[in-house]
Amino acid sequence: MFRNINKIVHLQKANFASAAPAPKTNPEILYTGLFINNEWVKSADGKTFPTENPATGEVITEVQQSGKADIDRAVQAAKEAFKFGSPWRRMDASQRGRLLNKLADLIERDRAYLASLETLDNGKPYQIAYHVDVGSVINNLRYYAGWADKNHGMVLPTDGNYFAYTRHEPVGVCGQIIPWNFPLLMASWKLGPALATGNTVVMKPAEQTPLTALYLAQLVKEAGFPAGVVNMVPGYGDAGAALVDHKDVDKIAFTGSTEVGKLIQRNAAGTVKRVTLELGGKSPNIVFADADLQYAVDKAHFGLFFNMGQCCCAGSRIYVEDKIYDKFVEMSAEKAKKRIVGDPFKAETEQGPQIDGEQQQKILSLIESGKKQGARLAAGGGTLGDRGYYVQPTVFADVKDDMDIAKIEIFGPVQQIMKFSSMDEVLERANSSEYGLAAAVFTKDLDKANHMVQGLRAGTVWVNDYNVFGNQVPFGGYKESGIGRENGPYGIRNYTEVKAVITKVLEKNS
Ligand code: NAP
Ligand code: MG
Repeated sequence: MFRNINKIVHLQKANFASAAPAPKTNPEILYTGLFINNEWVKSADGKTFPTENPATGEVITEVQQSGKADIDRAVQAAKEAFKFGSPWRRMDASQRGRLLNKLADLIERDRAYLASLETLDNGKPYQIAYHVDVGSVINNLRYYAGWADKNHGMVLPTDGNYFAYTRHEPVGVCGQIIPWNFPLLMASWKLGPALATGNTVVMKPAEQTPLTALYLAQLVKEAGFPAGVVNMVPGYGDAGAALVDHKDVDKIAFTGSTEVGKLIQRNAAGTVKRVTLELGGKSPNIVFADADLQYAVDKAHFGLFFNMGQCCCAGSRIYVEDKIYDKFVEMSAEKAKKRIVGDPFKAETEQGPQIDGEQQQKILSLIESGKKQGARLAAGGGTLGDRGYYVQPTVFADVKDDMDIAKIEIFGPVQQIMKFSSMDEVLERANSSEYGLAAAVFTKDLDKANHMVQGLRAGTVWVNDYNVFGNQVPFGGYKESGIGRENGPYGIRNYTEVKAVITKVLEKNS
């Protein structure tokens, strides 16, 4: 996903402004309704909710708010589209791949517009929205387009005179609940594998960032997907729960907080839904003294501050070997102080606002707790500007494992730097979190790297890098960081049921 990011960071120093076409700083808002059965409709009870521009705090527009009745309408449309014999079920698998490729082409056509809309609604720097978010969406859909006619079963040599084989079939109606930190990208991570394998979808974008998902819905229609295959239902407060409770939804995929993930898993039990969850993290980033110091500082900075710290895999527990600790802290604080925070539409901006006032307050109160509990504030610590939800790039040193800032997912630009002195000690401390999403190790010693890779309990371990993603490589969590994997062949499994077919073979013609 962030594969190009190193290039981007480098570009930023050279000629970043020329890297993407100019943004549309005031993009026209074309769709604010519910998208059900390939039609734009209003909510049954007429309710709407506002979405804000986090850089200013101003309302961009009102969006139709799905309630239970609307979720039911969307699920019925998805169920109808999934019926055996429907155009979608009869469609050749290769044709599903062509439709996904077409969708990717349309997103590429409208890339600057979509990136601008994402920046307006989410606050992330336009250069990142253009290169990383929308660029990865296009790649992801093309990757899964290729899978559409390759998800085949097996022929099994069973005992007796039988012909036994498996069919990989779609699960059915999939409810997908999308977070606000990578709105369009997380939508594609869920849409790609679901559609490649022939499912139908009811998607609920985050209430903070519904606009790019709504535009995407229109592109789904333009690409030629049959009515009801993708339905988009923005909502706020009860839409997610209505999807989880619905008896005709076969599967839920959720990315968001562990707290809500637990609720979803509990509530899905009522109908034994398949559930995949991509939840929180408090990922350890371990820097040994033999690592290239400047490189490790830069990567640790990127691993935490990227996307305003609003990443589930943010490297927010940085363990640094005692011999280089003081220098590492000094260099990290220096780097944080130089980070360019400001208008996300400006080409030089590295950090925009947090998503909303609630997240900003949560981050500020965790910063206060860090100070109170004895951590040393080495950079930042407050807000920035007189409007919008900005937080200064913040660095804490002398952090102890039992402090709140070392345990709670901050989801903001706040870096915790801890000290360690031995490999076994740091491994145990790194694994002591209830989370297990990602981890990283910086060392030039292969033995140390291999030992750590095998010992760390996390869904992804990076060695000498951070935030490297690929459409082909699975992503997901151990422990309370989630269930299931997205991306690559593993992502396909989440959307597939396995049917065993056993046919009696006549032994002789009678
Ligand atoms: P959240 O709590 O993770 O999730 C909010 C989403 O979940 C909304 O779409 C909401 O839709 C839905 N939801 C809430 N209750 C539900 C239920 N009982 N059943 C089904 N769906 C339900 O997000 P948040 O409140 O915006 O952020 C809180 C924290 O989550 C952040 O501070 C961060 O730590 C974490 N987070 C993690 C990620 C990630 O990438 N892993 C992304 C975003 C946030 P309705 O209101 O319509 O029900
Ligand atoms: Mg918004």
